[in-house]
Amino acid sequence: MNKVPKNVWYAIITLAILISVVVLFGSGSTLSKPPAVVPFSSVLENVKQDKVESIQVTGDELTVKLKDGTKQKSYKESYKSLSDFGVDYNKVKVEAKNPDNKNIFLDIILSLLPIAIIIGFFYFIMKQAQGSNSQAMSFGKSKARVSGMEKNKVKFKDVAGSQEAKVELQEIVEFLKYPKKFEALGAKIPKGVLLFGRPGTGKTLLARAVAGEADVPFFSISGSEFVEMFVGVGASRVRDLFSKAKKNAPCIIFIDEIDAVGRQRGSGTGGGHDEREQTLNQILVEMDGFEQGANVIVIAATNRPDVLDPALLRPGRFDRRVTLDLPDVKAREEILAVHSLKKPLDKDIDFSEIARKTPGVSGADLANIANEAAIFAARSDRKKVTQADFHEAIEKIALGPERKSHILNDREKKITAYHEAGHALLGHLLPNCHPVHKVSIVSRGMAGGVTWSLPLEDKHLHSIADFKDDIAMSLGGRSAEKIIFGEENVTTGAESDLKHANGLARRMVTEYGMSKALKNRFFGEEQGSVFLGKSFSQDKQYSEQIAAKIDDEVAKIIDQGTKRAEDTLTKNRAMLDKIAETLLVKETIEGKAFDKLMGEGPKPKTKTTKRNKTKNS
Ligand code: ADP
Ligand code: MG
Ligand code: ZN
Repeated sequence: MNKVPKNVWYAIITLAILISVVVLFGSGSTLSKPPAVVPFSSVLENVKQDKVESIQVTGDELTVKLKDGTKQKSYKESYKSLSDFGVDYNKVKVEAKNPDNKNIFLDIILSLLPIAIIIGFFYFIMKQAQGSNSQAMSFGKSKARVSGMEKNKVKFKDVAGSQEAKVELQEIVEFLKYPKKFEALGAKIPKGVLLFGRPGTGKTLLARAVAGEADVPFFSISGSEFVEMFVGVGASRVRDLFSKAKKNAPCIIFIDEIDAVGRQRGSGTGGGHDEREQTLNQILVEMDGFEQGANVIVIAATNRPDVLDPALLRPGRFDRRVTLDLPDVKAREEILAVHSLKKPLDKDIDFSEIARKTPGVSGADLANIANEAAIFAARSDRKKVTQADFHEAIEKIALGPERKSHILNDREKKITAYHEAGHALLGHLLPNCHPVHKVSIVSRGMAGGVTWSLPLEDKHLHSIADFKDDIAMSLGGRSAEKIIFGEENVTTGAESDLKHANGLARRMVTEYGMSKALKNRFFGEEQGSVFLGKSFSQDKQYSEQIAAKIDDEVAKIIDQGTKRAEDTLTKNRAMLDKIAETLLVKETIEGKAFDKLMGEGPKPKTKTTKRNKTKNS
């Protein structure tokens, strides 16, 4: 009951006091001493004897006050006044009262009471509805959050890297700031901008920065917020959002994760796509309905451009498209710097080294790394964040936190040591593998141990030779187990290696045309769109014979990889033992120590590197 607002309690208490006051005092002195009831004849007798001072008449009821002070009560016949009985009004003070009037106040209160209670009840319900987030009364309203009024707005300088995107969006800023300039030349102001990019590449951040630079309000809503349990809510929210925005023009509407509503229409899997269609239609209608000069620009973001409805991409709608890539080395360095502005840094900090160590990570990951580094520093009670903190943060994020408590028994430890040694040795010997950065048998996240190789620089194109080495290295863990402990004794530790190797082999055959029998053929299916109802209904574009051939080719690649791994490890058995023994003693070997152990100094890598990050467990 403590949810009842205070003023409701006040109202109830006041009411209760009021009623008791009326009951106590409203009906006069009835409560003091009830007067004796006497026959009417005795009253008349007293009047005759001049003993009566006053009589109060209330309907038929008489309240008599005698001169000696006693009070009496009596009843007379109806319709007859006291004078009919010969009472002389000059001698006795007679006062007539409305029969009901002593109750009238109470009656009013009592008749108002239920109304008051009902009003109070509704008030209470409304308060509750507003207080909690059940928006019973504002269902069709958009839940858009407005920002842009705050003081420290996001500006382009807070977005590191992404130069091309910024140039593209600078134009939008100009449109918002100086619409007249463009109108004067008859140029149409674009209505929509679509930001493509993987999660964490800074789409939301950049949209905010556009609003910040142009100094306009920013209405942000996520695509999924249009989709509710009730049909029609999405469309009415769109209407509401756009009408709010128009009132605040110039401004930006930001629809995050637009693929939640903007998927190709008519391809919904399961229920609810009618609702999506309506919502999407409403967005299109609203965008078409912008009068020229409305000066509202819709920015939408998605990481699934492939599933968007073509109608969204038509000119006049989201005809501007800006792609955000994962940051390259230089951008990564800048992002780290942006996110370390408020952190006290040790003077040994070298962001370029950290950037080199983090290929393939997104801006959001880097923000996370900077934060984790600060947390590490705080945990060990240091006043400054050091390079070592950053290294630890990278490892935590790339490999999962170390699980030192995950104790392996001696046999498991030996198996893991040989497994990781197998990966590491192949990583070292095969010409197209990245240099080994770290080998460890301390379990991390889900992995038993870890062999971590890092490319020397970012790479975007990968060759058949790259993939073959990668597959052989992935299979190196199990191969080492087999060589040392026998075919029957290989363990489940290779599960994720097998998954990686087989997935890569299949992609080589179906997507990259890199197998002998199916050279230059493409059988790719859009991956991951199954849930969005696209490839769900699409049949495979090839026959059963081809499917069997694909399986054959994948098997061949895997078999070749296995053979290569086993041959190489057998030939270099002494080195394999050396790595495994070192691991059993030290548990972890860092890159430089590893190179020393291999006795060659840093391994010359003539080729540029391939995948962004190799992680084998
Ligand atoms: P997206 O919307 O693309 O998934 P966000 O814009 O939400 O990604 O980015 C998440 C966070 O990552 C941001 O709040 C910011 O801290 C960081 N970030 C991403 N890209 C950058 C960048 N280019 N510069 C600075 N910070 C970035
Ligand atoms: Mg986002
Ligand atoms: Zn492994």
